[in-house]
Amino acid sequence: MNINDWINNRIKPEQYTEYLANGKDFINDELIEDKIRSNNAKDRRRFDEILAISKSIQTLSLDDTAFLLNVEDRDMLSEMRSTALAIKKKVYDNRIVTFAPIYLGSYCVNNCAYCGFKKDNSAVRRHILTEEEIVHEIEVLAGKIGHKRLIAVYGEHPKNDIDYMVNSIRAIYNVKVKTKNGYGQIRRVNVNAAPLAIENLKKLHEVGIGTYQVFQETYHHETYDKLHPKGTLKNDYKWRLYCMHRAFQAGIDDFGIGALFGLYDWKFEVMGLVAHALDLEKHVGIGPHTISFPRIEPAFNSPITQSSGHKVTDDDFLKLIVVLRLAVPYSGMIITARESEDIRSKSWLLGITQTDASTRIGVGGYSEKVTEQQDKGQQFLLGDTRSLTELIREFSSKGMITSFCTAGYRCGRTGECIMDLLRTGQEGKFCKLNAVLTFREWLDDFADEETKKMSEPLIEKEIEEVKMSNPGVFEQFISAYDKTKDGQRDLYF
Ligand code: SAM
Ligand code: SF4
Repeated sequence: MNINDWINNRIKPEQYTEYLANGKDFINDELIEDKIRSNNAKDRRRFDEILAISKSIQTLSLDDTAFLLNVEDRDMLSEMRSTALAIKKKVYDNRIVTFAPIYLGSYCVNNCAYCGFKKDNSAVRRHILTEEEIVHEIEVLAGKIGHKRLIAVYGEHPKNDIDYMVNSIRAIYNVKVKTKNGYGQIRRVNVNAAPLAIENLKKLHEVGIGTYQVFQETYHHETYDKLHPKGTLKNDYKWRLYCMHRAFQAGIDDFGIGALFGLYDWKFEVMGLVAHALDLEKHVGIGPHTISFPRIEPAFNSPITQSSGHKVTDDDFLKLIVVLRLAVPYSGMIITARESEDIRSKSWLLGITQTDASTRIGVGGYSEKVTEQQDKGQQFLLGDTRSLTELIREFSSKGMITSFCTAGYRCGRTGECIMDLLRTGQEGKFCKLNAVLTFREWLDDFADEETKKMSEPLIEKEIEEVKMSNPGVFEQFISAYDKTKDGQRDLYF
């Protein structure tokens, strides 16, 4: 099939029209702007009522979200931050999940103004990983660094089509690398890719992906239209907006939504994300498993990344994390290595649940010998390139346990089931057990002596907590823990 035929057959409008109301999608720009203008944040009683809704792990309305976005009072802001952290602890305890992105290709038929992979950037090196190259990447990621979770990132191009996606995911799952005490293996592949049609999403479901992640980039229609040129696939706002609704129809019930902050007003984008969560809850009964809020980073031949009129300041960025944690309290929240070390370290205290580590975003970047970031081979430049070991040391020193748990989707704890478990704080019980087992694996297989030494007291404390809070399973748990210490791998609850 030639490339134009491929493009022309890609979007199936009939797969989203059923969700429209009078031809319109659920983002009403004027209404959102009006809510941001009209919900002033003066009423203390309303503030308390809103925080009470968040604490009961219910999604906030758009009016309540707008109210929180407008809070400027220092005491109220401080209360919002402490409530955000308390909610994170209630739902996710002291765990932080780590992963790495793997870029499978740099070809793309789109022309997004902010992206180094855009079709018109003739300076970028284009490459798609072969199966052999994928194996080499996994040998480093799973065999040397010790990652168990990846997010596989794809451009939109016939070379990167659904068959390539399925084969590459299968190739990732098939690699097993011997380590000093056990073996390394990727156990969960999440996917960040273009919106797909239901028949292709079914294939992703069948190959066993974790989260299907697509960022709307900007929820503001006019800005979206400007940054994604007419005539390109990505110009179709609704095709993108409803891809999680389609994913659900295809059997995928683990959604990752996100916005690229810096393209339009940050308050509008937060409202868009919450509106997205509410619409998913309304139509398919479950909201997003994760929310991402990347800020735009410099990208080669993409001047808008340096001159956007909507750059988000650090203070506003930290505030938007807090508001999102309060507005969609059950959702996982991802911060990436796009951000600086300083901002990432501050964000752990505001409700973040997942982050990447030892990140390389060049295609083939993990097995290449280069250590410098290369602007011509990357989609954008990173802010924090610290290794997994360095991050784990930081987490352990702050009493946070690094979890490599991938049990959830393999035990069917996804979709509606996980939403209920998260809302009632039950998921934490399984997760604590799996966090301890998988952290033990990582310490024995990959940690240096220093990291191990500083993390052992944390593990001891966690085991003690399991004993107190979950006595019914303690015997079974400690038996799995001892087996893990003896070299058995991938035991989970
Ligand atoms: N091609 C697919 C798509 O556009 O949905 C997925 C891959 S794209 C490589 C992943 C995400 O990177 C995009 O959704 C966008 O939010 C983000 N991104 C693109 N350019 C960026 C930049 N300059 N800075 C930060 N993030 C960027
Ligand atoms: Fe292609 Fe995605 Fe980059 Fe847009 S953001 S140019 S769709 S890789």
